[in-house]
Amino acid sequence: MAKYKLEYIWLDGYEPVANLRGKTLVKDFDSFPTLEMLPKWGFDGSSTRQAEGHSSDCVLKPIACYPDSTKTNGVLVLNEVMHPDGTPHSTNARATILDDPGTWFGFEQEYFFTVDGRPLGFPKEGYPAPQGEYYTGVGYKNVGDLAREIVDKHLDLCLDAGINHEGINAEVAKGQWEFQIFGKGPKKAADELWMARYLLMRLCESYGIDVEFHCKPIRGDWNGSGMHSNFSTAYMREVGGKEYFEALMAAFDKYKNEHIAVYGPDNHLRLTGLHETQSIDKFNYGLANRGASIRIPHSFMDNNYRGYLEDRRPNSAGDPYKIASRILQTIATVPTK
Ligand code: ADP
Ligand code: MN
Ligand code: MN
Ligand code: MN
Repeated sequence: MAKYKLEYIWLDGYEPVANLRGKTLVKDFDSFPTLEMLPKWGFDGSSTRQAEGHSSDCVLKPIACYPDSTKTNGVLVLNEVMHPDGTPHSTNARATILDDPGTWFGFEQEYFFTVDGRPLGFPKEGYPAPQGEYYTGVGYKNVGDLAREIVDKHLDLCLDAGINHEGINAEVAKGQWEFQIFGKGPKKAADELWMARYLLMRLCESYGIDVEFHCKPIRGDWNGSGMHSNFSTAYMREVGGKEYFEALMAAFDKYKNEHIAVYGPDNHLRLTGLHETQSIDKFNYGLANRGASIRIPHSFMDNNYRGYLEDRRPNSAGDPYKIASRILQTIATVPTK
């Protein structure tokens, strides 16, 4: 028997963006626990905007667990929030996803590192050199002295946890970075994205640095942060075709407002038509077009309209559960042969 430190993690009820919450439970196990071995737990929902004071118990239902390499016998336990009667809480968007391991999602999470509300590397007053050399840049003048150490450590924490982190790049604005998470199954991909956010935020605590997920933390000629959402169903990869693709895009056009509604707050500040975006009230698609709502990769055209598509509208603060859920809802309206 050994003492395992189980960090139970969940999303709270804050609007428009949920916060990650976590608390530790110590339990004896003979070996690294499987999901089935992890008990349900509870918390005070009145402190997380998930319940009123008079009946405030919410239930944590473990849905995935990952090794936490920062601790001896550490386990990261991701949870859905449930009512005591076993039904999903209204803040539980994960429960709305029609899961299917044949549907793949790749999320490109952009964000800023900030210190006291200013992007890392910005002078106390005024601005650094304009955008140009920061994207995928190297050298102190481009990336500063701490960011690379953090993003590389974050990558290792994710890989140690078994999270399918696929890559990193320095982004267009100073202090702005991106990582990518890919998963087979929308729930798996979105779970791992939330865990990757958690690990990054927790890692940054000891540096005195925050992770800013807002989509437009600096006004002016500075890129905002997106969370491009790449998706493919088995049908899109294996059958596809021009006719199906056009029907799919017609459905995305029809439901464009419903998509924008769950693609992250304040997106009008980011989706302006500038800085590699389409404007918020338009829907279009285009081959390799980074100014489109949906970008068609070259591989998709080369493969006769088969493969994945990139929805560029979701922003950095969006909830991947809600984004995936909406994309799948729209796809489900389009008949397949
Ligand atoms: P870019 O910055 O050029 O848009 P990235 O390499 O940052 O490209 O992101 C591409 C994303 O697409 C990755 O997250 C990758 O996992 C994802 N992806 C690749 N193939 C598929 C697929 N078949 N289905 C869903 N996502 C995919
Ligand atoms: Mn990218
Ligand atoms: Mn990017
Ligand atoms: Mn992209």
